Parts: sequence; C-alpha cells; structure tokens
Amino acid sequence: MADNSSNPTDDPLGAVDTPTPRRKPKPEVTTIGGRELKPSTLMMGHGFDPALSEGSLKAPIFLTSTFAFENAAAGKRHFEGITGKRPGGAEGLVYSRFNGPNQEILEDRLAIWDGAEDALCFSSGMSAIATLMLAACNTGDVIVHSGPLYAASEGFVSKVMAKFGVSYVDFPAGATREELDEVMAKAKALAEKQGGQVQLIYLESPANPTNALVDIEAVRDARDAAFDPDLTPIAIDNTFLGPLWQRPLDHGADLVVYSLTKYVGGHSDLVAGSVCGAKRWIDAIRALRNTMGGIADPNTAWMLLRSLETVELRMERAGKNAEKVCEFLRGHPKVEGLGYLGFIEDERQQDIYNRHCTGAGSTFSVFIKGGEAECFKFLDALTIAKLAVSLGGTETLASHPASMTHLSVPDERKAALGITDNLVRISIGIEDPDDLIADFEQALAKV
Ligand SMILES: *Cc1c(COP(=O)(O)O)cnc(C)c1O
Repeated sequence: MADNSSNPTDDPLGAVDTPTPRRKPKPEVTTIGGRELKPSTLMMGHGFDPALSEGSLKAPIFLTSTFAFENAAAGKRHFEGITGKRPGGAEGLVYSRFNGPNQEILEDRLAIWDGAEDALCFSSGMSAIATLMLAACNTGDVIVHSGPLYAASEGFVSKVMAKFGVSYVDFPAGATREELDEVMAKAKALAEKQGGQVQLIYLESPANPTNALVDIEAVRDARDAAFDPDLTPIAIDNTFLGPLWQRPLDHGADLVVYSLTKYVGGHSDLVAGSVCGAKRWIDAIRALRNTMGGIADPNTAWMLLRSLETVELRMERAGKNAEKVCEFLRGHPKVEGLGYLGFIEDERQQDIYNRHCTGAGSTFSVFIKGGEAECFKFLDALTIAKLAVSLGGTETLASHPASMTHLSVPDERKAALGITDNLVRISIGIEDPDDLIADFEQALAKV
C-alpha cells in the first residue's frame, strides 16, 4: 500500500482489522425520527458494514467453502447451538452449503420488500419451490393449489410429490369464497382418507399465461375456517408482480416464493429463487435447504444485491412502458384482445386487483387476429423484442406459448386455460416506449 501513514495500527502489514465473517454488522438504521425507511433506501447498505471488509463500500464476493473458528471452544459452542444442546441456536457461518456473507445480506434485503421476518435464497425458483413443498409434506398429506401453476411447479406437485404419497386438490385461480370452502372440504376429506393432513396451500397469482388473479384474502378466510392456521400455511408464487406490485403477506399469505431470475434479477443474466415469511415457517425450509444444498452461490447473490438497488426503478419503468404499449395495441385492427391487468373486464377480477395489486406489471398476452401463422409472422418481424421465454428483464421478450412453453399441455387443458394459437406472450422491458411501439407497429403491419 502506497501511503498508509494515517493508519493508527501498529500492525507492520497495515491490516487494520482482519475481516471475520462471524462478527455482527453494526446496528442497522431503519428509521429516522420515527420515519420508517423505504426498501429502495435500504437496498444500498442494509445488512452490510464496510468496516468488516477493509472499508469496501460494496460487499466483496466471499468465495470460500468453509469458515474458520476463532478457537476450539468457539467451534464446540457453534455445534452445541446447531444440535440444540445449547438454547438459542447457532450464530455465525460455518460451511457454504448452509450460508455465506453474500447470501445473508441478500436474504436480509429480500425480506424487507415483503415485510417478512426472514428469507432464504436458492439456486433457482424451482429449487425454492421444491424445497418448500418437500419440507411441508409427509406421506398421506394433501396440497391445495390454485391453477394453472408455472408448468414445472405443477409437474412437481403432480409427479414428484405424488411419488412420496402426497396428493393435491386444485382450484381455478379466480375461485370465490364459496368455491374455496368446497375445495378445502374436499381436501380435508381426501387427507383423512389417506391418513394425512392438508399441510400446504400453494397459490400463484397472477397465473401464467392467463393472468387470472387469486383472491388471497378469500383463501385465507377459507383456510382459517377449515384448518388450523398454525399447521396449514398459505404460500404464494409472487414472481409476476413482486416485489413491487403485490405484497401477499399483507393479504393473508404466510410465505412468498420468487423466481429471482425474473424481475428481481432483472437483467436476464442469472437464475435464482427465494422464499420469505415468518421465521417459524422458514426454519423448517432452511433445515432442508441446508441438507440438500439448494442455496444460491456467492456470485449470484452478489449480482442480486446489485439488481436489488434498481429493482424499483426498473419495475416502475417497465410498468409504465407496458401501459403505453398496451394502449397502442388495444386499438390496433390486427389485435383481437389483450390479457393485461391494466384492462381487466371481469368485475370480480377487478375487485381482487383493487384489493391486492398496486400495478399491472409488464407481462401480458396479446391475441393476434388469426392463428399460429399470423403470430409467427408478427414474432419474426419484431426487431427490438427478442424471441425468448422468461420475463422481467431489462429487454422486451416475446414468445408463443402454444408452440413453445405450453406445447406439451394436452389440447383440452390448453383450451380450458385459454392458451390459444393466436396468443403471443410479451414481457416489456425498460427501453424507450415509443421505440417499442414503433417496433410493434411495423411488425403488425407484416401480419
Ligand atoms: C420462472 C418461474 C419459476 C421458476 O423459476 P426458475 O428460477 O426458472 O427456477 C417459477 N414460477 C414462476 C411464476 C416463474 O415465472
């Protein structure tokens, strides 16, 4: 180091303070004069103290598989905490399958957005969902879920959980309180017959690609009437609207699941997932994650910390862009209709939207007049929008679910879900909105 003369240390190597990951960051400032700081403010520094990392303003990436104990007694103390031989649990880091500094900071910051007590990060959205379901259920148990779900989630329930003797009862996303009461009764009867319990209510809202919203409050009321809320949590996949436009914990959900790959990561350059909620639910999921090793890696966690600093800016811009693009598409002679939360036609869906959502998102369906051939002409003519699955990135993406993501769905179910041959799925990015409209205009002209 060139000039370290102002350094008061007498350590000849100039090492001010060896960073030890077991040290706690200094107390967090989350309020000023009684004012609670907003998530967008806390994303810049919450959970990280530069003094523990040589003054580095940003958290370094901690590439290590294991963490050194200060002495043998500290090692013993840690394992006494883990095994429950000493009350209060274990503190600090020990091995990277369990956790690391980057992932811990990420989890602290993720919890803030949903107002959750605790959060866990995973190597993918599916890893989060699979770990949640496996942690919740025993043989004979029943999962109640809304439909449709993300295809891999639906497959995990119906095929993988089935291998362990766990069955499911599903209901359409828009179900009313009365319909939900019937679903809960049916699930209860099935669980009793199988000698199990209804251990998980799993929602996805809005559903993909129908954009149908689930009435979380009605599900909570139906759950409270049928089951013990302390034994049957409600989890919800909030990937499409979270964390900005829907906060499910405020409406009766107990756990919120994300594919961080989408809006939170937001740059289409990583795959990750998360679950957040009350500590008592999270602890059981953490125990299984620690065993199976589905935690996000340090590099991905670091990239997500960077992404979280701009998530509000990006989502706000993408939401505004989508509104403008949908206004344009709505009146276009080659467009038959739109599946966009900004233009809901159903009264009950609008009511759910008004109670649960603060924005319409930037992922929607556009129904082109014609069928597959017309959609393909439109997709092939787009120049800004890329033809790819996924959503929530800075760039605009377009896809044709009937021939791509939902190709393997039986025709009957496709029809029931409204996945027609003339449906194009669009995720709007943060480009200039008028450039996007110009692109859609010229592409529609080629149909
Ligand atoms: C993408 C997605 C998932 C799966 O997440 P991965 O990160 O790809 O594992 C789950 N749910 C929804 C709604 C998604 O869009």
